[in-house]
Amino acid sequence: MSSKTVLITGCSTGIGHDLARRLTLANYTVIATARHPETLTDLQVALKLPLDVTNSASIASATEEVVRRFGRVDILVNNAGYALRGAVEEISDEQVHKMFDVNVYGVMRMMHAVVPQMRQQKAGRIINIGSIGGKLVMPVNGTYSATKFAIEALSDASRLELAPFGIQVVLIEPGNIRSNFAATAQAHAKEILSNPDSPYRALYQQYLQVTTTMRKQEAEPEIVSQVVQQAIEASKPKARYVVAVPFSNRVVLHLGDSLRDVMFRRLLKIAPDRDASE
Ligand code: NAP
Repeated sequence: MSSKTVLITGCSTGIGHDLARRLTLANYTVIATARHPETLTDLQVALKLPLDVTNSASIASATEEVVRRFGRVDILVNNAGYALRGAVEEISDEQVHKMFDVNVYGVMRMMHAVVPQMRQQKAGRIINIGSIGGKLVMPVNGTYSATKFAIEALSDASRLELAPFGIQVVLIEPGNIRSNFAATAQAHAKEILSNPDSPYRALYQQYLQVTTTMRKQEAEPEIVSQVVQQAIEASKPKARYVVAVPFSNRVVLHLGDSLRDVMFRRLLKIAPDRDASE
């Protein structure tokens, strides 16, 4: 039986929702948070709080409430996040800013709020939900991957910075998971991906075809929650855990740039380079 407190961001749906349920069943004191707490009504957790990771006041009020009620934050799970789709050229600065604000600055804001408390406790564990997209970049996913590359960097640096204070930082790298993620990405990208005048029209069509097929093999969020629980309970957690990534994709991670480009060109039917002298 565990009475450790776990604060999770983005619990309205998907991985965060499942994790809150799972850890409660495992007797953790779960603080489930969401931008709109009414989305948490079906969760039976120790505490539900409103928390928008883009809003420092909302973060301060949630984390202060947790410390006031439970005296400590043992585990922080930085889960909130979403994706944009589209060629780098076609996604606006404003859209990218907003995504970084959630996926990257949101994680940093949560760390700023929680690490001083963990340092005072001389113990704590931070679990960052990254993505296999933070290792392997597919065309059309560049800006989302950029946010998850950033999470790789923040996790690698803070793992060593915080170790002397008894705080461990762990990165989870999921593959395709069944949640609201794909629908949200689709909603954000609708105008870009369906623009008949886009110079990337053929690429987008092929991308949608390929990813629709890939998404048919999505894993359930439970697979990620299970691994997060392992990472929470391991006496010496690994730096990173890859979850729900097929063997073929793991192999691609180790290919050199040229081979990987050949593979993506074939998969997405990207035309050969135009000769600059033409
Ligand atoms: P999801 O079902 O769409 O859940 C995303 C969660 O993030 C929702 O609860 C959403 O809340 C929340 N969120 C978005 N903006 C927020 C903000 N400003 N403040 C607080 N919460 C916010 O997708 P998911 O698959 O569970 O995604 C969870 C994490 O896994 C994300 O970091 C994602 O990048 C990562 N991931 C997912 C996949 C996948 O294939 N599903 C693969 C690799 C990594 P609202 O309901 O309020 O929007």
